[in-house]
This record gives sequence, structure tokens and C-alpha cells, in this order.
Amino acid sequence: MKVVAVYLRLSLEDKRDMGAGESNSISSQRILIRSFIRQDAELKEYEVKEFCDDGWSGTGMDRPGMNALLAEVKKNRVQCIIVKDMSRFSRDYIEMGTYLDQIFPFMGVRFIALCDHYDSRKHGGTTIGIDTAFRTLLYDLYSKDVSVKVKSSFENKCANGEYIFGQVPFGYRKSPEERNTVIVEEKEAEVVRHIFSLAEQGKGSTEIAKELQREGIPTVTQMRQPGTKAEDGRIHAWSGRSVRNILNNRFYLGEMAYGKSKRKSVGSKNGISVPEEEWKVIPNHHEALVAPEVFAKVARFKPDMARKRKQDAGQGRRKHPLTGKLYCGGCGYAMVYKPLHGKNRYRHFECYKRSLLRIPECCTYFSADILEELVLTRINKELMVRGEAAGRKKSLEAFQESGIAGIRKELKAMRQEKKHAQDSKETLYKSYAAGDVSAEEYRKEADSLDGRIDLLDSRLCSGKEELIKLEEENKMLEADMKLVIRYSHMEKLTQELVDAFIKKIYVYKDKRVEIEWDFREG
Ligand SMILES: [Zn+2]
Repeated sequence: MKVVAVYLRLSLEDKRDMGAGESNSISSQRILIRSFIRQDAELKEYEVKEFCDDGWSGTGMDRPGMNALLAEVKKNRVQCIIVKDMSRFSRDYIEMGTYLDQIFPFMGVRFIALCDHYDSRKHGGTTIGIDTAFRTLLYDLYSKDVSVKVKSSFENKCANGEYIFGQVPFGYRKSPEERNTVIVEEKEAEVVRHIFSLAEQGKGSTEIAKELQREGIPTVTQMRQPGTKAEDGRIHAWSGRSVRNILNNRFYLGEMAYGKSKRKSVGSKNGISVPEEEWKVIPNHHEALVAPEVFAKVARFKPDMARKRKQDAGQGRRKHPLTGKLYCGGCGYAMVYKPLHGKNRYRHFECYKRSLLRIPECCTYFSADILEELVLTRINKELMVRGEAAGRKKSLEAFQESGIAGIRKELKAMRQEKKHAQDSKETLYKSYAAGDVSAEEYRKEADSLDGRIDLLDSRLCSGKEELIKLEEENKMLEADMKLVIRYSHMEKLTQELVDAFIKKIYVYKDKRVEIEWDFREG
């Protein structure tokens, strides 16, 4: 009898974050997987064994349920493993890759991650067959330096599945047969196509809304939730906005976008929205309702879209804050910024000379998202360390100030002594002229006074130099501290921030990043 292992995992953090209807609970994972098995002609004949880690994080592999499962795998007692998504199995993507690419194929174990649409049988037992968007995501996560923030965007990937568990865009509905897929809802789709064809004729969104109203076409709410009343007793009506929402939705092109928001920082619940040009997109995810030419043509009639495109183009031309500071660790030449444009689906940097020099050490690709994140984290860390040092600097500053005051006092005393010596020399000359002292006595005494004056002159000179130096140092110390305080904990990598603190950055093929700071060493 063949065995299919069902692996379920829920971390304490997942539990904390869980809202109503959360799709990650152990029981919903179980229901999803069990119903998949029941519907699969081959798997429903297998014996089902369940392994569960409730309250365990996915970072380490040392979990009781996982250990039991892997022990069974080693004894060759498991033919197939099913998880809801890969992150249930492991959040360490290098580990995940090792299991998918080496261990499971070697043991002849089929691995299925439902929400990732991954089945090792379909993908020839390697990660190679995984769709491009997901693979790029894996690449992102392979780099060990990635902060937790980027990792959390991986969670959004299953927005893929979760999205479909939630609201399906107008014109579609969940497939009753195939999990995680949407099919066309013909009655709604007709309205969507109608809206696009009106827009294609050059009609604006408000005009289209009026037209729909005239034709007596029910609104999205009326079709989806018949019987609901509009707010404040108003009648249901199409608005320019609801028309625009449809015309702007790339879902109708068959595209599935995810990564629309990311977490602000570790542990924070509320996501911040990600600009549309940075969303990750799976093309041909479902049946399209509109042809790309039509979508593009319609976009031309929409002034807001035109404005947005113009803005995007402007952003593309604007230089990246790291430009001029970023170098390839392999060859030492500059790294060039490649914004989103044409076939360039991910903002990244590449070595300027890579194709010319063809040095294997060259850094041919570095994700801009990851680099920005990383540099910002390092700046903040550096500022924190220096902020602590600022406290120590404060007392140094006080010490310096008392030093400056001391030197000023000394200089004043020396000037007085010099004046005194000059006066004595004058008096001495008068006495000589009056015949009170001999020429020999006068010369001896005058020589000694001259010597004293010379000495005072040179002391005054070095004292003044020291004073200037101390005063300058003191000013710098102040400026440096102000800078540290001003920039403590920055949220965004700006040109100003880069210019204030960074001299040079070297990036390497193995994704190492070396930063040369531009802090003044006080
Ligand atoms: Zn290079």
C-alpha cells in the first residue's frame, strides 16, 4: 500500500496574525489537502498519514512532525508528500531547494505544494520547471542577506491561492472542479467585454457609466449580491470609478498579480502598498476577457493612465540614488541601474563591463529591491552604533571646550608677558641713555629680554594653531552629531541619505555587499 504524507504546520506567529477566515489554520490546511487527495484518481487509493507541527516556525527543520516524516521518508515508506504551500514545509529556501532538487527525487518521493501549483512529477523533480515568477522569487530568497521584510513578500505569493479563496474579480468565479483556479462567469463577463468595447470607441469612464445605466445593466453589487440596498436609500448606479476599476484591472488580461503590499517591518501587521510597477505578475494565469491590444488602446483614452505612464517614464530617466556609488566587486567597474522597462521585469543592477570583459567573478545581476533594503538596513545599523557613540562624543566635546578655554587663557597670559618684556626693554634703554647702566649691562639685559620675547612669540604662534585646530574639530563634532541625530532610523533610501553617508559600495557575484562609509571619523 502506497502512502501519501500530509504535512501541516502552523507557527505561533501565524496564530497571532490570524484574522477571521484565515486560510492557514491547521484544520483549513487539512480540509484543503484531504479534499485534493479525494479528488485525485491516483492519490485517493493511497493510505493517508498525517504529520503535524502546531506552534512551530518554518525556519529550522528540527520539528517533531517533520522529524517523524523525514524518518518515514528515509525508510522509504512515503511515496508522496503534500503541503498547502512550500513555506509550510520550510522557510529556508536553500533547504527547500535541496529537498526538491536532490533528496526527494533520489528517494522517489513526489512532492506537491498546492498553493504554489507545484508538483514534482510535472516539474521533472526539479525547481527548474517552476514558473518564472516563482523561480525569481526563490532566487531573491536564496540570497542569505535578505531581510525579513523581503521574505514576507513570499507570503504574498500565496496571495495567489488566498486571493482566489477571497473575492474573485467581476467576470469570473471559482472553478467548482479545480482548486485555486478561476473560470469565466459568462453573464458578468459580457458586461466586462461591453465596457471594454465602449471604451475602445473612445468613450470616457463617466460616459460609459451613464450608458450602462441607460441600458439598464445591473451594477456589480446588484449582480453579485442581489437584494442588497445601496447606502442612504440611493439607487444602485454605475459610477465612473467602478468602470475605471474594471478598465484598469490587468486581471482581465489573464494576469495574476501578487506582492501588492509588503510588511513595513518585522512583526508589523499592516502592510504598505507596493507601487504597481513592482508587483510580481504571473501571465496566462486564467482565461483573459480582453485582448492586450484592446487593453492598451483603451489605456490611451484614459487621461489618468496617460499621466501615470508619463510619470513612470520620468521615473525611469531619473537616476537611482546609488548611481555613481555602486561598483562590481569582480572587475571594479560601475554597476548600471536597469529600471522596469520593456522585457525588464525586475528592477536590478548589472555590471557595466560584464559582457565586454566576460570575467566569471563579475556581478551580472543584483536585485534593486534587495540592495536598497540591505543598504538601508546597514545605514540604520551604522547610525545606531554612531548614535551611541554620540553620547560619548558629547563628553568629548565638553572636554575639548575646556581645552579651548585653557589655551585661550594661556595665550592671553603670554601676550601680557610679551608686552611686559617689551616695556622692560624700553625702560632699560632709557636708563642706558640716561647713563644709569653701562653699555655692557644694557646689552646683556636686552639680549635676555629679546630671548624671552622670541620664545613667547613662537609659543603664541603654536598656541594659536592649536586653538584653530581644536575649534575646527569641535565644529565638526557638532555637525556629525547633528547628522546622526537627523538621520536616525530612515525608512527610505534617498539620494540625500546615500550622499551623506556612503562613499562606495561593492557588490559581488555571491551577493556580498561591502560598504565604504563616508562618516567623518571624529
Ligand atoms: Zn564586473
